[in-house]
Amino acid sequence: MIPASFDYHRPASVAEALSLVAKFGDEGRVVAGGHSLIPMMKLRMANPQHLIDLRDVAELKAGIRDDGGTTLIGALVTQAELIADESLARSCPILREAALQIADPQIRNCGTVGGNVANGDPGNDMPAVMMALDARFVVEGPDGTEELPARGFYQAAYFTSLGDNRILTAIRIPHPPTGHGAAYVKQKRKIGDYATAAAAVLLTRTGDRCTFASIALTNVADTPLFAEEASRILVGCTLDAATIDRAVAAAEAITRPSSDGRGPARFRTKVAGQMVRRAIATAKARASG
Ligand SMILES: Cc1cc2nc3c(=O)[nH]c(=O)nc-3n(C[C@H](O)[C@H](O)[C@H](O)COP(=O)(O)OP(=O)(O)OC[C@H]3O[C@@H](n4cnc5c(N)ncnc54)[C@H](O)[C@@H]3O)c2cc1C
Repeated sequence: MIPASFDYHRPASVAEALSLVAKFGDEGRVVAGGHSLIPMMKLRMANPQHLIDLRDVAELKAGIRDDGGTTLIGALVTQAELIADESLARSCPILREAALQIADPQIRNCGTVGGNVANGDPGNDMPAVMMALDARFVVEGPDGTEELPARGFYQAAYFTSLGDNRILTAIRIPHPPTGHGAAYVKQKRKIGDYATAAAAVLLTRTGDRCTFASIALTNVADTPLFAEEASRILVGCTLDAATIDRAVAAAEAITRPSSDGRGPARFRTKVAGQMVRRAIATAKARASG
């Protein structure tokens, strides 16, 4: 399908982009990699009359850098650039592992990390990873800069707390604890597909005790889910089978998937539980005790 006609704008700075966003209101939409928005426009599920292309905004391409105990990732960093960053793969390996499971190389070459988290599609993989990492989204708008926690950002499918008049400029991720183990495990029908269900797990161990755990889920509700109770259950235990069973049950209990082409709701809930179980096992094996 061909999208409806629109005017195209190419601002060179965040200030200029924000003034266009303010000027066009509901009729305008920013575009980054275009690999979620353009398909929606072709399907006529999104019909912006003004497309505000962010690709020339240098401030959003700030790259990936350390910033006072956190990693700052510019909103326009592509998924391919994130995968290629060796330093990030060492300090926060779950980001590369998750990005490698997004679509295919062509899409990862264009799709941005900022677009993936701002999109609000529960099928996107990065939001749950950002929740597990307790990331914050740096947004700029008429009232200045604000940092919004990923765990409170998603309100419903395609609804976030970003607001219409703000732009996501970067993502701030606290350095995960040294020696942590992490895993992003995704069940999909075929290569390049969105998740039937996926789980992000980070944990640390001291001796045989789990000292920290963080679990989040992809595509089993109309938002990504932070599995707070499941995370809490793991902390202090020896990651024994009975406790992992309880954590899996707690994670399954918060899912609200729809029945669709990826399977009936009950099946997807059970797949989510299996993803959590596998991600815990992998993260446990990767954590240095
Ligand atoms: C065939 C196919 C398969 C895919 N499979 C997967 C998959 O398995 N997993 C997955 O996670 N994704 C998948 N995707 C989506 C892909 O990862 C997208 O690139 C990503 O979701 C959006 O990034 P983008 O830069 O392309 O954003 P765009 O499409 O440009 O924008 C998406 C939305 O975010 C908003 N936006 C973008 N940047 C900003 C910003 N800086 N500030 C404020 N708002 C912004 C836009 O206005 C728009 O509403 C797939 C896409 C395709 C076409």
